[in-house]
Amino acid sequence: MIAHEQLSLFQRQSDEFWRFTLAQFEAKGGTVACKAGCVHCCKAYAQCSDVEADQIAAAMRADPDGLGRYEARINAYLRELADKWRAAGDPVPDFEKRVEMHFGLNMRCPFLTDGDRCAVYDMRPQACRTHWAAGTNELCKSPATVSKALKIAPTEESTRMFVEALRQEGRTEEYASYDRIQEVLSQKGSLTLIAAAVKRALMRRSSAESRPERNP
Ligand code: SF4
Repeated sequence: MIAHEQLSLFQRQSDEFWRFTLAQFEAKGGTVACKAGCVHCCKAYAQCSDVEADQIAAAMRADPDGLGRYEARINAYLRELADKWRAAGDPVPDFEKRVEMHFGLNMRCPFLTDGDRCAVYDMRPQACRTHWAAGTNELCKSPATVSKALKIAPTEESTRMFVEALRQEGRTEEYASYDRIQEVLSQKGSLTLIAAAVKRALMRRSSAESRPERNP
């Protein structure tokens, strides 16, 4: 598994890359729809990798009176989701159906605070870091139109400019592991709904901590 320090570095780099990408997008006349407090994406079927979930689980276990309290929200969220699947007549929908129906179930990610902020913002998974909509957030509001919202993607030109800026600043080496980590985090078949992945990571950590140490 990728070490948490490596993951944190990658996440800061990813944010730097996206700040650059969005600035280029706006410089060409585009408008970024996403703003602090807009939470439509946090109702989507967002997934994360095991290492991202473990990073959040570690922070939760280290802070039982703060972030750790979100465990109750995770459990409630997963119970509510199972109830809604059952009520929809399919207790174990296949992956495509889960994704398709999720937005319409109006389930707020358990890490979304009552003040509409992400409680794990610095550790939010790549799916949340890299999802940007263009124009206004009008299309993001409804299950009927959310899939039509225009997504912003890095262009070849903006990526080349970013790489060149790093080269001029002598920082290319800092990004040596970037592509490898990006590939690991986005491996097909290894991603799970954020709440379910973090619950699993919490259970793994809890059972590892309660396991008696073996004698050498
Ligand atoms: S982890 Fe944070 S940004 Fe991602 S869906 Fe949950 S509340 Fe939103």
